[in-house]
Amino acid sequence: MMDLVADLRAIEKTYHRIHSSPPVPALRGVNLSIPRGQYLAIMGPSGSGKSTLMNIVGCLDQPTKGSYRLNGQDVATMSDKEISQVRGERIGFIFHLIPQLTVLENVGVPLFYGTLPRGRRMELARRAVEHVGLTDRQDHRPSQLSGGQQQRVAIARALVNKPSILLADEPTGNLDSATGEAILTLLDELHDSGLTIVMVTHDERVADRCQRVVQLLDGMIDCDQLIAT
Ligand code: ADP
Ligand code: MG
Repeated sequence: MMDLVADLRAIEKTYHRIHSSPPVPALRGVNLSIPRGQYLAIMGPSGSGKSTLMNIVGCLDQPTKGSYRLNGQDVATMSDKEISQVRGERIGFIFHLIPQLTVLENVGVPLFYGTLPRGRRMELARRAVEHVGLTDRQDHRPSQLSGGQQQRVAIARALVNKPSILLADEPTGNLDSATGEAILTLLDELHDSGLTIVMVTHDERVADRCQRVVQLLDGMIDCDQLIAT
């Protein structure tokens, strides 16, 4: 049997807004199996449900209907505590940095949810910063870094726990093309080393380097395509 990191079956998500406004069906029956080691791009127009899907894959939100197994375990049967533990240990998110913290402190944030002593946490954070080539900037704050450097820090933070899946919502969105290219090269290397990557993107260059492109349209999968590499 194929080793699946994530397996979503008939996932629906409806947002209920305040008072009289009608509920919003953001996902309407999504089936998605993600094999371990796959590099997957999620594309589709604004409002098609990409971020909603990522939030569910990342256990930041629960589906209204359907089932989601992460590393073989049914997320619906887990307690809130188990879910935050899974989120901390198995899932790497690339998201914006905390402006008040240094590079090293930002990278160490996910480790606070575990039980490691401080010295060990700092050591892991230092190694992750080194991995993305920013050791000389580890005591700087995000505002003192370029956009590309900030994105590297966000990647280091996502990887500090050695997650089984890396999630990124538009990681090259605000970057100029050379910097975006450098980030994509870093993600390529991570994928080559065996990491599973799920990335929301509008960037055609990503579609060229990943293994699979899933197109969402109105909360449903419109096209699910394996890329010959
Ligand atoms: P995308 O990331 O593809 O732009 P989203 O997943 O953010 O799409 O949104 C899908 C739909 O769900 C949109 O119609 C959006 O307005 C709606 N939506 C997203 N988040 C919420 C929310 N927290 N409350 C209500 N509606 C939401
Ligand atoms: Mg979005």
